[in-house]
Amino acid sequence: MNGAFPFHEERHEVDFCVIGGGMAGFCAALAAARHGARVALMQDRPVLGGNASSEIRMHICGADRHGGLPHLRETGILEEIRLQGLLENPQRSHSMQDLHLHALLAQCPNVTLLLNCACHDAAMDGGRLVSVTGWQTTTQTRHVVRAGIFADCSGDSVLIPLTGAPHLSGREGKARFGESLAPDQPDGQAMGMTCLFMARRHDRPMPFVRPSWAHEYRSCDDLPYGEKGHRWFQSGYWWIELGGDDPEQIRNTERTRDELLKVVLGVWDHIKNHCPSVEASRHALDWIGFLPGKRSSRRYLGAHILTQNDIEREGRFDDLVAYGGWSMDVHDVKGFRAVKEQRAATIFHPSPSPYGIPYRSFYSEAVPNLMFAGRNHSASFLAHSSTRVMGTCAVMGQAVGTAAALALRNGLDPAGVLPRVKELQQLLLRDDCYLPGVPFVHAGILREARLGVSQGDGEPLRDGYTRQIGHDPHCWIARAGDWAAYEWDGARPVAEAALFLDSALEREIALTNLHGGPERSTLPEAMPRTWELDVRADGRWMRWHREERNGRRHWRIPIGRPVTGVRFRLLETWGAAESRVYGFHLA
Ligand SMILES: Cc1cc2nc3c(=O)[nH]c(=O)nc-3n(C[C@H](O)[C@H](O)[C@H](O)COP(=O)(O)OP(=O)(O)OC[C@H]3O[C@@H](n4cnc5c(N)ncnc54)[C@H](O)[C@@H]3O)c2cc1C
Repeated sequence: MNGAFPFHEERHEVDFCVIGGGMAGFCAALAAARHGARVALMQDRPVLGGNASSEIRMHICGADRHGGLPHLRETGILEEIRLQGLLENPQRSHSMQDLHLHALLAQCPNVTLLLNCACHDAAMDGGRLVSVTGWQTTTQTRHVVRAGIFADCSGDSVLIPLTGAPHLSGREGKARFGESLAPDQPDGQAMGMTCLFMARRHDRPMPFVRPSWAHEYRSCDDLPYGEKGHRWFQSGYWWIELGGDDPEQIRNTERTRDELLKVVLGVWDHIKNHCPSVEASRHALDWIGFLPGKRSSRRYLGAHILTQNDIEREGRFDDLVAYGGWSMDVHDVKGFRAVKEQRAATIFHPSPSPYGIPYRSFYSEAVPNLMFAGRNHSASFLAHSSTRVMGTCAVMGQAVGTAAALALRNGLDPAGVLPRVKELQQLLLRDDCYLPGVPFVHAGILREARLGVSQGDGEPLRDGYTRQIGHDPHCWIARAGDWAAYEWDGARPVAEAALFLDSALEREIALTNLHGGPERSTLPEAMPRTWELDVRADGRWMRWHREERNGRRHWRIPIGRPVTGVRFRLLETWGAAESRVYGFHLA
């Protein structure tokens, strides 16, 4: 060896570099790319989605709490992915979801997707981050990515040790943020990690013999939730959780994984051979997660730290750019072992839904071109116990990617977007994100138009809200054959039309192992299936766009010409008699 680096090295120059391709990083990268930034996404695994990927298989939940709180489901990029899943993945396969995520980024011409590439180094200059370096195992290549703005969405916050950015870890004591639910003293402990498993039913008895190295649980009382809690044995148990009480959780991940496997096999032995409340004689293990899903880790200290108190006050921030609504789901630091001490594996502390999350919790003040989204954003341990769910991580990611693109377009650092946060909010609303209490502000062209509809009151189509809020439906109800049209006396230049259609926001549509059945694997019946957009020019209506197998809630259709009218026509739904149209906008 002459000392030269013996492997290939590739250098990349982009505008925005995202580290970590979980739901937060995926949405950040896609949002920035759609807003025109040149993006690199460095992800250490072969697939995208993080804990939602086929490698871990956790279902994405969020502010609507599995559909229990209607009309609070996250929209934007996440809704697009979920609906695509219903249309093209009725078999509910996690690998198909991996494929959809992959295709969405890999097909973007301005995205450099660096998979199997683990970030392990960073270069700084005068306090700013200049580049990050990753090692790609499949190609034995070192990738160096220079960018104007970086976002750490790696969950474990790899850029904290690499940049020295200030951060939080473990549980803060009560005094730190005045949180009533915090322990009296800080203790460096957090939530642990889990290996899930899946079991499949066969047409004959499938005996199981516990390997000698696995743990043994003969009685239901040896496990959390007793007999009743064991009935979802087909899809693994979130409460097989270890490592939360280990302050060196990251460093000990491999060791913890091996211990988790002993627990998984012991629990499966319990289900098969000792549990009186389940009938699993024909079931056999089909898949075991070898990559532990992680919950807690280092969190960044941003310009604002979201706390329990912020959540309880509904997060009414002027700069809210995302929202959450999951309860403060505080797992016992001992996880699976808490049962021995007669404690529940988790406590769901109430939180309002929705609550706002401020833009300031997504960027570092110490490293001015560093952003973050996902379970590592700037939040106390207690606030993160709610914001960590992936629906919330996804909308944070979309906000960060959109903000990064806005900053880059205007030569700003992330903090420079704060005075322009209203512009950021409007961009997010335009892209079908929901921001509680923030209405869409329409262009004059829409306000000045005459609105005609075939029946009913069409004004909710332009009232600035694109979903039901509380008891106000904010929609125009259409049947097949109904139309809504905007018209002006003279021709107006219309850049685009946008539609916000019915995707049954009151229904649970997440890809999950827990529940199955055809009702959950198809597009909502109320969704428009076939619809048309017409424009009026030279004194006559003409068809501009026709959609025949619609699988989207949100559409933006370029028009780019002067017209005297624009019309939407519903031709067919996926089965229901009526469909709610939440918005028909023009810009
Ligand atoms: C068992 C379990 C059950 C859960 N239950 C739910 C649930 O029901 N619903 C829900 O919504 N949430 C649930 N959660 C919480 C949720 O899964 C996490 O909080 C969430 O995954 C956070 O999303 P993220 O994008 O921030 O991070 P992650 O999903 O962790 O994604 C981070 C990504 O970054 C990658 N990465 C890490 N380091 C590097 C590096 N150095 N270089 C490049 N890439 C890197 C990782 O491989 C990963 O793909 C659960 C978590 C666990 C473990």
